Amino acid sequence: MADVLVADVVIAGGGPAGWALARACARSGLRVTLVAPTNTWPATYGMWLDETSVLPAGARWVPARVRGLARGYAVLDNESVLAACAHPGIEVVRARVAAMTATGARLAHGEVLRAGMVFDATGVLGAANRVEQTAFGVVVPAERAASVVAPGEAVFMDWRRPPGFGEPATFLYAVPRPDGRVLLEETCLARRPGLGFAELRDRLHARLGPLDGPVERVRFPVDVPPPPLLASGAIPFGAAAGFVHPATGFSLADTFRLAPAVASAFRGGPAAVRRVLWPAPARLVYRLRRRGLATLLSLTATEHEEFFDLFFALPERRQRAYLSGRTDLAGVTAAMAVLFARAPAHLRRKMVTP
Ligand SMILES: Cc1cc2nc3c(=O)[nH]c(=O)nc-3n(C[C@H](O)[C@H](O)[C@H](O)COP(=O)(O)OP(=O)(O)OC[C@H]3O[C@@H](n4cnc5c(N)ncnc54)[C@H](O)[C@@H]3O)c2cc1C
Repeated sequence: MADVLVADVVIAGGGPAGWALARACARSGLRVTLVAPTNTWPATYGMWLDETSVLPAGARWVPARVRGLARGYAVLDNESVLAACAHPGIEVVRARVAAMTATGARLAHGEVLRAGMVFDATGVLGAANRVEQTAFGVVVPAERAASVVAPGEAVFMDWRRPPGFGEPATFLYAVPRPDGRVLLEETCLARRPGLGFAELRDRLHARLGPLDGPVERVRFPVDVPPPPLLASGAIPFGAAAGFVHPATGFSLADTFRLAPAVASAFRGGPAAVRRVLWPAPARLVYRLRRRGLATLLSLTATEHEEFFDLFFALPERRQRAYLSGRTDLAGVTAAMAVLFARAPAHLRRKMVTP
C-alpha cells in the first residue's frame, strides 16, 4: 500500500496523552493526525484541584474536599475534556497502529502515514514482571456511599484493613463523579504482580457490604522508566513515556502540562522534543520517586498506614513537591529528607535499604 504524507505530526493513541498532545500541536499551527481506535476514556480520572489549570478551556470536573487533607481534589468529566481537546487542525483516523518509526506509522490494515514526527501515546499494559497498581471499584448512587463520604467529599486513602484481610495493604478510594454517583474503589497501590481483581472485590465488599453498580477495573504498571537518553524512533508521550508517578500512579496532570511544551519544541526537531520531555532534573526526580516505590514495596500493611500518616502530616508544600514536582529536585529531596527525619527507626531502615 502507498505511503501517504499526511501531517506534521502523527500521534498513535487517543487516550489523555494522545488528545492532550494533538490539541497542543494543532493550536500551535501544526497539522495533526491522531490514530485512535476508540473515542472514549472509560476510566474515572482525578487530579489535584490546583492542577486543573493545565486542562484545556471548556474541560469540567467535580471538585472534592479530601477528608483530612488541605489540598482539594478534582474528578474529571471525561467527555468535556475530550470535547475541549477537539480542534479543526486534528484529523482523526479510526485505526490501530501496527508499527511506528520516527517518521512513519503503519496502520493495522497496511497503510503507512508519514509525518515530520511520530508520537507513541498508546499507553502501557500490565505485565507479569511489572510493579502494578490494581483496583476494583463500583459506581454507586450517592445515598449508598453516604456512610463513607458526605456530598462533595472524597476519601483519598483509607488504609484501615477490611475485616478478615491482612497482607498486602490495600486502601479505600472514594470520589464523587460528574454524574452525581460515587466511585468506591479498593486499591492496591503498588505490588509485583498487582493484586487480583477477585481479592480486591472481596475486600471492598468486606469493607462496605454488597455493592451494586457498574464496575471499574484498574490495572497498569507504575514502574515504566523514562526512555533512554539517546533513544530514536517514534517519541513516546504519556504513560508510554514513563510519565506515571511510580509511587502514586498519577500522570494526567503532567501529561496536560507538558503537551504545549512539546508542541513549542517541535521546530527544534526530535532531540529538542526529547529534552523537553525528560530534562535532567526530571530524570533525577524519577529516580527518587523510584526509591519511594521501593520503600512502599517493602512495607507491611501496618507500616503502610504509619508511613502515609507521616507523609500526609508533612507541610502541604512538601507533599505537593513529592506528589507533583516532576522537575523539582530540591523540593522532592527536601520532602524525602523531612519524612525520613520524622520517621521511626523501623521505617527509616526501609526508606534507606528497602
Ligand atoms: C482505570 C485507570 C484509572 C486511572 N486513574 C488515574 C487518575 O485518576 N489520575 C491519574 O493521573 N492517572 C490515572 N491512571 C493512570 C494513567 O494516568 C492512565 O493510565 C492514563 O490513561 C494514561 O494516559 P495515556 O493516554 O498515556 O494512556 P492510555 O489512557 O492507556 O491511552 C492509550 C490509548 O492508546 C490506544 N492504543 C493502544 N494501542 C494502540 C495502537 N496500537 N494503535 C492506536 N491506538 C492504540 C488505547 O486504546 C488507548 O485509548 C489511571 C489508570 C487506569 C488504568
